[in-house]
Amino acid sequence: MSNPKQAPRRHADILFRGATVVDGTGAPRRTADVAVAQGRILAVGEALDATGAQEVVQARGRVLAPGFIDTHTHDDGYLLVHRGMEPKISQGVTTVVTGNCGISVAPLVHDDPPQPLDLMGPPSLFRFAGFGDWLQALRDAPTNVNVAPLVGHSTLRVKTMQDLSRPATPAETEAMREEVELAMRAGAFGVSTGTFYPPAAAATEAEIIAVCEPVRRRRGIYSTHLRDETDDIVPAIEEALRIGRALDCMVVFSHHKVAGKRNFGRSRETLGLLGQASRLQPLCLDCHPYPATSTMLRLDRVSQASRTMITWSKGYPEAGGRDFHELMRTLGLDEQGLLEKLRPAAAIYFVMDEGDVERIASFPLTLFGSDGLPFDPRPHPRQWGTFPRILARMVRESGLMTLEQAVHKMTGLAARQYGLAQRGRIAPGCHADLVLFDADRVQDRATFEDPIQVSAGIDGVWVNGRRVWNEGRALPAYSGQVLRRAPDAA
Ligand SMILES: [Zn+2]
Repeated sequence: MSNPKQAPRRHADILFRGATVVDGTGAPRRTADVAVAQGRILAVGEALDATGAQEVVQARGRVLAPGFIDTHTHDDGYLLVHRGMEPKISQGVTTVVTGNCGISVAPLVHDDPPQPLDLMGPPSLFRFAGFGDWLQALRDAPTNVNVAPLVGHSTLRVKTMQDLSRPATPAETEAMREEVELAMRAGAFGVSTGTFYPPAAAATEAEIIAVCEPVRRRRGIYSTHLRDETDDIVPAIEEALRIGRALDCMVVFSHHKVAGKRNFGRSRETLGLLGQASRLQPLCLDCHPYPATSTMLRLDRVSQASRTMITWSKGYPEAGGRDFHELMRTLGLDEQGLLEKLRPAAAIYFVMDEGDVERIASFPLTLFGSDGLPFDPRPHPRQWGTFPRILARMVRESGLMTLEQAVHKMTGLAARQYGLAQRGRIAPGCHADLVLFDADRVQDRATFEDPIQVSAGIDGVWVNGRRVWNEGRALPAYSGQVLRRAPDAA
């Protein structure tokens, strides 16, 4: 005899009818219905039963893909005050990796954090003594995206050391190691470093290995903004590979690039090196599809750039949106004089070759990360445009990669590298993070001149089975979760 209590009817909450399913594994697209129940994918197949569904989405002619994973963000603080997360969900992003480049808002209480920590937003965000306190704040007031958090080594240095211009003492190293242990216990996926930046430039390889010791024990991630992305990029890559071997962990090479005109084309060399190393140790890369980068104002970057555009300046706010060299002429200042007048400030630097950008994007171990600076009043367009730009330019227009390959990098591959269990794929049992888009029409609209623009062609986005984006409008579902790393999720 059947007992209805033991066999509850499993009906779909949402049914996508006739979608072109690009499932995130790299497999060829196919037309299918997709049923979602209780935040998970219930079934993928032909003519699924819509009985009882609260929502039937007519998806014919549109692509249904796993929600995109933005593997490189500085959204730590933005999440706390902009729960809608429009810059990301408007692109189809359903998960953000935070705490990159050595900087995380936690654990740090500070009323005037040094550059580049200030790129994450105003000082009021730096109010969490423990990494777990920040995660709890995200759980108490969830957002429209899932969060995979890293803890930043520069943040720990600012918290722990009085003098940042030297290597850490044994006592300081131990204090930072203890913070990493606490952060990872609370839920950090691993540690990021940014030895390119002043707060960590004096950190030695030995300091980093010692501070990151819990990453090894807890099978975390080591993510790095390299010491050098220009002439000395090869020794910088080798240092990161040694750190990865010492920690026996995944190394993430952040926003991989070779900057400066005389290094154009050298991605052949760096990708060759990384490809070889990947046979011996786990690693991956991230990048975005623009030939320009953005960070704090510094003269070494200005000198490598064909053009430098100021995005904001505290010293001289009128400089926002203006060209660095044009300002020098207008104000009659040399480079150093202008730097003094503007700072603290940030800029966009045109430092990369389009050929390198494309070669790096199509490398098999490359994921996509926007690297946007969310509080910048004139941000690099990557903050609003990265994922649609890849789908428009690198897939539809240039055919650099297939739609299936691009989606795989944005979803299944990213989930595997970061250890996001049952995400990044459309398959029964997986979490229902989904994006519905028009592959013929998807297009970034953000430009360097007009960077805060919603992309076209992203029709709907669902996070853990709740709709967060509906044709140009964010919905207050706030169904994002703080994720836990599962190193064996692959
Ligand atoms: Zn960086």
